[in-house]
Amino acid sequence: MAAPDGRHSFCAECPRRMTAERATSPDPQTTTSEAPREKCGVFGVYGRDEDVGRIAFFGLFALQHRGQESAGIAVSNGERVWGHKAMGLVTQVFDEDILGSLSPAHIAVGHTRYSTCGSSVPHNAQPIICASASGDLALAHNGNLVNMRDLQAQLAGETDDTNATNDSALIARMLGRSKHRRIEDALAEVMPHLQGAYSLVLMTPTQLAAVRDPYGIRPLSIGHLGEGRYVFASESCAISVVGGHFHREVEPGEVVVVDDDGLRETQIMPVASRATCVFEFIYFARPDTQIYSRTIYDARRRMGHELAREHPAPGAHIVIPIPDSAVAAALGYAEASRIPFGEGLVKNRYIQRTFIQPVQRMRDLGARMKFSPLREAIAGHKVVMVDDSIVRGTTTGKIVRMLREAGATEVHVRITSPPVRYPCYYGIDMADQKDLVAARKTVDGIRDHIGATSLGYLSLGGVMRAIGLPKKLFCRACFDGQYPIPIPTDVRLSKMMLEEPNVAAASRCDVAAASRSDVAAASRCDVAAASRCDGES
Ligand code: SF4
Repeated sequence: MAAPDGRHSFCAECPRRMTAERATSPDPQTTTSEAPREKCGVFGVYGRDEDVGRIAFFGLFALQHRGQESAGIAVSNGERVWGHKAMGLVTQVFDEDILGSLSPAHIAVGHTRYSTCGSSVPHNAQPIICASASGDLALAHNGNLVNMRDLQAQLAGETDDTNATNDSALIARMLGRSKHRRIEDALAEVMPHLQGAYSLVLMTPTQLAAVRDPYGIRPLSIGHLGEGRYVFASESCAISVVGGHFHREVEPGEVVVVDDDGLRETQIMPVASRATCVFEFIYFARPDTQIYSRTIYDARRRMGHELAREHPAPGAHIVIPIPDSAVAAALGYAEASRIPFGEGLVKNRYIQRTFIQPVQRMRDLGARMKFSPLREAIAGHKVVMVDDSIVRGTTTGKIVRMLREAGATEVHVRITSPPVRYPCYYGIDMADQKDLVAARKTVDGIRDHIGATSLGYLSLGGVMRAIGLPKKLFCRACFDGQYPIPIPTDVRLSKMMLEEPNVAAASRCDVAAASRSDVAAASRCDVAAASRCDGES
């Protein structure tokens, strides 16, 4: 069925094949290239007599910050699975016609995605759909596997009906070849083979399931919508947005299944040692989300208190946040330091992702496309600028320059995390090690690089005091290099080559291209790697 404007073609004729459109990737130049980027948000809902496709739409809308490149929803009416996915923001991918075609159904799985090297293409949008022993299976994944090559080897020569080329498709294919009809039995067979970070929401025609890896790296929560109706979401904020009540987090290694018999909880894998991503607290998660029973907003505000104690800025006139992620921390810094809080930068909230290519002159403006200084608040003042992290350093430098040009007499940069010195392999696109400014420079060197008057990073101890939990519950590998799940050498090398950027780029693409059967895909990867290395800060 074609939508009236002809942009969408819905999969009525072929329910196994979700539509996937719009071949152009969003232009990363229009995003904040400094910030680490989350890889995905997942959402699931089970409810008889509910418009589950529409609920999934609003759930994904609440998770949009976790990925802005593609979005998709798969639904089931108890007999078959179908859906729609395409490149773009949730509101660009779905309209009333498409949502109408996702009904009637009583199970839905949704996904919003940010991708890395070479994979921002329509066929890698999720949910992934493949055949399984219990009928078609739809899967949405947040995280990154680190043993992708092993899984590829195990599946070599077998039929691939996923039409996708990423680690999520490998999980779907592993589940699809299981003979077990109960989803928890298929997961019990497959999970021991998966190494890395995975929070999954998946469904067959009759069952919805939520799964978390044994370390619990990426968040995943369960909510109630009412009698026999349940919601799963990457973040608890998405449960509240659809009118649900937060129940609890899915435990590491646990599978939670919902069907017409109700909710079943099974601890499939023993909890390894918990390693929830501490960056969820610092930057990724929405402020109204809860993780480990802590509200993210409160934790960030306390990070500001700790930061003010560890790195005071005596004599400063105003504390300003980088909007929006550092607002709570800047408020906390202002409270603890008794320096007035103010807005010094205005954010263009709608710049996030666009398919319109900016002209070169606009690219050169860089951070100005996203932030504008409030001259009246800044001119003649000594400013404390609070941000959550410095990854490459270039964007931070541009903002410091912008504040100085707007009349700031001093710019004291305060960061609510320790220096990011190591890359992430568990689902965050945070740059290779060679691009991490803190891997190459001392704190004083970074201060000079960004042109700040002074620079202070919150210690890991300060982050933990702010969260109020012991550090053994968290992955903090991008700060201390202690990876909770071992990283295979080939995967590690792809991001750790400080001296050989070209080899690193080629190696990244080898890994991605190895998952593909076509040369064109490999060359797309080359182009993407080259443009990222050249274009990003
Ligand atoms: S390496 Fe850093 S960003 Fe990645 S999961 Fe660990 S704490 Fe999170």
